Amino acid sequence: MTKAIILGSGAASGVPTISDGWGACDASESKNRRSRAGVYFEDGATHILIDSSADVREQLIANNIRRLNAVFYTHAHADHTMGIDDLRALNYHIDDITGMQKKVQGQALDIYAVEPHIAEIRRRFDYVLTDEKAREQTHRPQLCPHEIQFGQPIMIGGVKIMPLEFAGHTVVTIGYVFNDGQLVLIPDYKEIPAQTLAYLQKIDVNVLIMPLTAVEECRYHAGIDIDKHYIAQIRPQRTVLTHLGPKCDYQKVLQLCPPHVEPAFDNMVLEL
Ligand SMILES: [Zn+2]
Ligand SMILES: [Zn+2]
Repeated sequence: MTKAIILGSGAASGVPTISDGWGACDASESKNRRSRAGVYFEDGATHILIDSSADVREQLIANNIRRLNAVFYTHAHADHTMGIDDLRALNYHIDDITGMQKKVQGQALDIYAVEPHIAEIRRRFDYVLTDEKAREQTHRPQLCPHEIQFGQPIMIGGVKIMPLEFAGHTVVTIGYVFNDGQLVLIPDYKEIPAQTLAYLQKIDVNVLIMPLTAVEECRYHAGIDIDKHYIAQIRPQRTVLTHLGPKCDYQKVLQLCPPHVEPAFDNMVLEL
């Protein structure tokens, strides 16, 4: 089965937040408890993580994800990268044959982003990157960076991943198209560049994951009206809204959604 999991459905502050608690969200609705951004894609033996927030450790444990082929980054903001140190555990393969978790020597884990985001990760987490694929004897994470280009697809196992450019956030962000539309992930954005929109309109989009940070648009994020405008043009079979801030109550957002669109929640599984 090919599937995606919304590991974290929250925006940068998560829900509840430290300063404002539940905000506009109903505390009695369990879907309103949100960890920070992360998506997982699995196709047979190919396991791919998109973004590693500060909550990534709990997210991978909760979903029993112990092996990754690669990590893709949408951008290097803190809410998408701060769990990068915890990826050290993925440098090991877990041998369950004996019924005991035995660590065996693994390899460096491949990570993918565009050049400015790799540079930002290198600046902030210099110690986690290595250019050597073979793993050394060390307890620090070993992540092997790969620069990708917009419009140039990468193959991971049998999975085709097309990186696309998005605009209107504080930095350029990268969206990803898996297997020509089986899954499309839109990153933090406010605007879809014409070239990217034309590409998305040409393919058949099965499931679209896109952010709704606040219902009303703000300076660096699209709101529900901008999201709906693009959903109508891309025409996916199903759309899931994620990166939900404390102003986005699950039930209230659901009521604003057109048919085949719904808000995400942590650990939501999407069969593809
Ligand atoms: Zn974000
Ligand atoms: Zn961001």
